[in-house]
Amino acid sequence: MPFEKIVPPSEGTKITVESGKLHIPDQPIITFIEGDGIGYDIMTASRRIWDAAVEKAYNGARRIHWMEIYSGEKAAQLYDGNYMPEETFEALRQYHIGIKGPLTTPVGGGFRSLNVTLRQVLDLYACVRPVRWYRGVPSPLKDPGKTDIVIFRENTEDVYAGIEYEAGSAENKKLAAFLRNEMGAQFFEDAGLGIKPISAFASKRLVRKAIQYALDRGRKSVTLVHKGNIQKFTEGAFRKWGYEVAAQEFGDVTITEDDLWEKYNGKQPEGTIVIKDRIADIIFQHLLLRPDEFDVLATMNLNGDYLSDAAAAHVGGVGIAPGANIGDEVAMFEATHGTAPKYTNLDKVNPGSLLFSGVMMLEYMDWWEAANLINTAFEKTIEQKIVTYDFARQMEGATEVGTSAFATAIIRNMD
Ligand code: NAD
Repeated sequence: MPFEKIVPPSEGTKITVESGKLHIPDQPIITFIEGDGIGYDIMTASRRIWDAAVEKAYNGARRIHWMEIYSGEKAAQLYDGNYMPEETFEALRQYHIGIKGPLTTPVGGGFRSLNVTLRQVLDLYACVRPVRWYRGVPSPLKDPGKTDIVIFRENTEDVYAGIEYEAGSAENKKLAAFLRNEMGAQFFEDAGLGIKPISAFASKRLVRKAIQYALDRGRKSVTLVHKGNIQKFTEGAFRKWGYEVAAQEFGDVTITEDDLWEKYNGKQPEGTIVIKDRIADIIFQHLLLRPDEFDVLATMNLNGDYLSDAAAAHVGGVGIAPGANIGDEVAMFEATHGTAPKYTNLDKVNPGSLLFSGVMMLEYMDWWEAANLINTAFEKTIEQKIVTYDFARQMEGATEVGTSAFATAIIRNMD
C-alpha cells in the first residue's frame, strides 16, 4: 500500500534482512526523522557530512538515498495532530534503518514519550551507546583517551516497564494487601509500589547482541553490570543468564575472568572474549579510574540509563554522545540529547551527537571507510579549534562557528 505522506525517493534500493542478516545495497534508501527544535539544524548539517564522506570514500559508487519519515511536531502538522503516525512505523519495518533527531515529548495530555513509543512498538530492545574520546575534545579526565567502551542497555523491561501503583490508589491497596497477607512482605503504610520485571528472554537476547557485537568488532571483553548482591532474583538473575548465554551459545570463543587467571595465567588467548561482571555502583568508579579495563558493557535499563550519561560526560558530554536503539530487524540511530528549544533554528548547536550516530550507522552497514573519514576529519577540525559554542567556552583560543560552518569545516578536512 502506498504511503499517505511519505514520498519514497525516485532512486535507490531497499535494504533487506534475511535470517537476521542485513543486506545493504550500494544505493540504499535510508529513512530519517528530522526531529524538533534543533533537529533541522543538526540533521541538515549531518546529512551534508555523511553524504560527503560516502561520496569521497567510494568515488560515487555508493550513495545514500534519503527518505523523510515523520514524528513529533512536523508529523503533527502533516497528519492532523498525530505525533506518531502509523506509517512511520511501517516505513521503518520496511526499510530497516532510520536515523533521527531529538523529539519533543509534549507535556501533559497523557502523551507517552515518542522515543519510548518507537522503541516499544518496533521492539528495539538494545540501546547501544559507544563512549570514546575524540582528540581535542574538552574532557574532565586526565587521560580521556583510555575510554573506549560500548554500553548495551536493555530497553524493554526493568522499572521502565511502567508497572507502578500510586500510593492510596485502589490498585495499590489491592497489591499491598496481597504482598502483605499472602507473600509475607513488609513495608511502610502508603508506600508507592513499582514492579521490576527482569526476564531470561530479554536478558539473554541483550547479552547475546552484546557478545555478537564484541565478536564482530574484535573487542576483548563483555562486562555484565548488575546489582545482584542486593536484587538477587532480578539483577542477580540477569548476571546468571548472561553467563549462561556466553557458555551455551558462544562457548568456543568466550572465557570467564576466572578461566583467564586459572587456565591462561592472565594472558587472554587470541580470538576470545572475556566475560566478566561488576556490581553497578563500583563500575562508576572503575570507569573513572581505570577505563581501559572495560570494553563492551551489558546491563539492564536503569543501570544503563545512569551509566551511559555518566560515561558520556567523561569524554565530552551528552552533546556529542551518539546512540542507537536496535532490534532484530530494525535499527534506529539517534541523537542522545533533547531538542534544546532555545536554540531552535539559530544555526548554533553542536551536531556531534547526531553526526556520530550516523557514524555508528555507517559502521552498522559495514561502510567503514566513510565512517573513518568522518572520525578523522572531526578530530582534525577540533584540533584546529574550529568548534561550536559549547566547546568554544571550554577551550582557549577557539574559533566559534555555527552548526553549518562547523559541518563545512569537517567536510573540508576530509581532503
Ligand atoms: P536538551 O538536551 O534538549 O537540552 C539541555 C541543554 O543541553 C540545552 O539547553 C543546551 O544547553 C544543551 N544541548 C543539548 N543539545 C546540544 C547540542 N547539540 N549542542 C550544544 N548544546 C546542546 O534537554 P531538555 O532541555 O531536558 O529537553 C528539551 C526537550 O527535549 C524536551 O521536550 C524533552 O522531552 C526532549 N528530549 C528528547 C530526547 C530525544 O528525543 N532523544 C532526549 C532528551 C530530551
